[in-house]
Amino acid sequence: MSDWKDLFQGHILDRGEAYYFDGAVLELHKTEHGYHAVVEGTEDYEVDIEMEGGRVCEMYCSCPYAEDGNNCKHMAAVLFEIEEQNGEDILAEETCPDAQEQEVKELLYYVFECPQNNLVHIYKLKEICTDKEWEDYRKQILKNPKNYNILYPFMEKEGMYEPMLECLKKETFTYNLDRYENVLKEKFPEQVRDIYISYLHHEAERAGNRKRYRELMKYLKKIRRYPGGKEKASEIAKNWRAMYYRRTAMMDETGKAGF
Ligand SMILES: [Zn+2]
Repeated sequence: MSDWKDLFQGHILDRGEAYYFDGAVLELHKTEHGYHAVVEGTEDYEVDIEMEGGRVCEMYCSCPYAEDGNNCKHMAAVLFEIEEQNGEDILAEETCPDAQEQEVKELLYYVFECPQNNLVHIYKLKEICTDKEWEDYRKQILKNPKNYNILYPFMEKEGMYEPMLECLKKETFTYNLDRYENVLKEKFPEQVRDIYISYLHHEAERAGNRKRYRELMKYLKKIRRYPGGKEKASEIAKNWRAMYYRRTAMMDETGKAGF
């Protein structure tokens, strides 16, 4: 147990004290578990300080710095104000074991039982678990079909490019491949090229109007920009001419695209 001031970096504490002296702490009032206040800054920020037996347990602030998991100057300003109003010292307990355990439980539930629309909760979990746990959690997150929305951003953030390629190979649309093409093309040019090629085979069979043919040409040209891609693209165009010679619009578009 230590003084609450130990929860802050020196310069943050100084700025918090300056805020407090400037009267930036407004509307300080008691809540069920501690205090709530509004702190006037670049914007008005909402601060909650949770306390247990005169000790600081948890702190929240709506500013961007706190959102990244830091203890901010607004929290410090509020604590100066609380101390001043109560005329007694406030202590800090580094961890409130019960509260922390509860938080972990809630996070686990949230991450594994609910569909994720962003990476916020996943990375909160990463922050509080061990490396070994994370390895396991990460696998579970990737396997969960509910997480399709965040699958690619997550793999990108984790630097999991090979698993990303494997997933892309199974897709029938190029939306995600197009999105991550720049990231992947430097590391795996041949593989990316080949995924586009297999997409083209698949799509050429199903395409039935000029709009789709044009789309095919866009990808055929794209393939040309990959290593060995010129030959591959010409080969594909040659096959199309042989297979689809009855599709006049497609032949027309192939010609216009320069094949
Ligand atoms: Zn803040």
